[in-house]
Amino acid sequence: MKKFSDVRVRMAPSPTGFFHVGSARTALYNWLFARHHNGTFILRVEDTDVVRSSEKMIQVILDGLTWLGLNWDEGPYFQSKRLDAYMTYVKKLLDSERAYYCYCDPEELEKEKKEAYKNKIDWQYDRRCLKLSSAERDQKEKLNVPKATRFLVPDHPVEYYDSIHGKITREAEAIEDFVIMRHNGVPTYNLACVVDDHDMGISHVIRAVEHITNTPKQLLLYEALGLPKPEFAHLPLILGEDKKKLSKRHGAVSLMWYKKQGFLPDAMINYLALLGWSPGDDKEIMKKDELINRFSLERINPANAVFDITKLEWMNGQYILTMSDEELLNHLKPYLTTARFIEQHEIESKHDWLIHVCRLMKPRLKTLSEINEKGRYFFLDDFEYEKDALSKHLNKKTLLLIKKFSAELKIIQNFNAQSIEQTLRNFAKKNNVKAREIIHPLRVFVTGLEGGPGLFETLELLGSETCMRRINKVFEVHGSTSDS
Ligand code: GLU
Repeated sequence: MKKFSDVRVRMAPSPTGFFHVGSARTALYNWLFARHHNGTFILRVEDTDVVRSSEKMIQVILDGLTWLGLNWDEGPYFQSKRLDAYMTYVKKLLDSERAYYCYCDPEELEKEKKEAYKNKIDWQYDRRCLKLSSAERDQKEKLNVPKATRFLVPDHPVEYYDSIHGKITREAEAIEDFVIMRHNGVPTYNLACVVDDHDMGISHVIRAVEHITNTPKQLLLYEALGLPKPEFAHLPLILGEDKKKLSKRHGAVSLMWYKKQGFLPDAMINYLALLGWSPGDDKEIMKKDELINRFSLERINPANAVFDITKLEWMNGQYILTMSDEELLNHLKPYLTTARFIEQHEIESKHDWLIHVCRLMKPRLKTLSEINEKGRYFFLDDFEYEKDALSKHLNKKTLLLIKKFSAELKIIQNFNAQSIEQTLRNFAKKNNVKAREIIHPLRVFVTGLEGGPGLFETLELLGSETCMRRINKVFEVHGSTSDS
């Protein structure tokens, strides 16, 4: 059996909203750290917010991690099923007078806070319930006034060493007596997180920098409960190109969107790994094994990282390039059938032809879904001509030339790339024109695009009949609109 080290890390998503690429990176860094140290990667679903959490979202997270190949060794654990454990720790804090009941109405407190904010006054809970006399407390209990539990923040600063950001100090005055258990008996994030991280034996908490202000609170809880503390590492923010926090405004941020677009999981992993971490040299293309080998917290850059979709597309293209034609075909099949380029039952009989299409398209695809626009003409006649591509060839000279050449194209016996090329070059010579004067318009007439794979192979794959039909269509529609 595989031996695990003492390294135990976790990914602790809240199943609300969607699976953000930033969360995917957090999961990846935890996973890489665990695998590098032969440790344990744990999945914990933080679903105590019953209103915002959903089953569907949990499934999206599981699917996303599975798609990326970030397998977990334990879990998923669900916080909603551990309410008793949290209660036990809250009781301990109450018994040792490190926590106290708060009978204040949260809505009233919220109002006070807003008012203070409006008047630009700092607001903190003023411990009014800590100051209640026992008679006042008894009275509240008798009246069954709903109560939350607050942690009594001690009067000393919190100091700790973050593996990425170094020494961090937070003054006690900056931390109010925060709620650890709500009126409804549900723990708040900080309490549940500490209890879980302890109970699950987490050695390193590697999470988004958004949580860095929670860490001092959590450290105070560890201290009050007499629990050993894990190491902390807060990952830098991911920004959009305008240097603002990456959000929907910048385009797609949901992991599943990238899956749908046909980004490959290995390319995604490779890209996300470099979004805040570097191996210390210029190497960019690294598969999982190499990433596992080289990953370390020390090489995470504390500065925020910028999400660059162009770079991700480039990287994905590199991964597509290294695929065999057969692999690419397997990846493209769902796109081809969904776009109705080909029916499922035709795939086998057209296998060799499809493989040839894959070979031609491989260097041209940055994502799998690009086959929809870049490869449509291989399958269907109803492609659109690229903007302005056709009009520039609709002049008398070109039309005459293509008309004349198409007569020769039509009678090629063995319609393959070689014979097409031969015929075209001979024709160009005979007519004293450059080969490209035929190649460019011909490509647009037959594919609708100005660029693409080698024209002769493309024509061969399309077949004589399709080529002639498309050329004739241009003449039918535009033959009379050419200048004279
Ligand atoms: N549930 C938190 C989140 O999704 C995770 C907090 C943590 O990792 O401690 O942001």
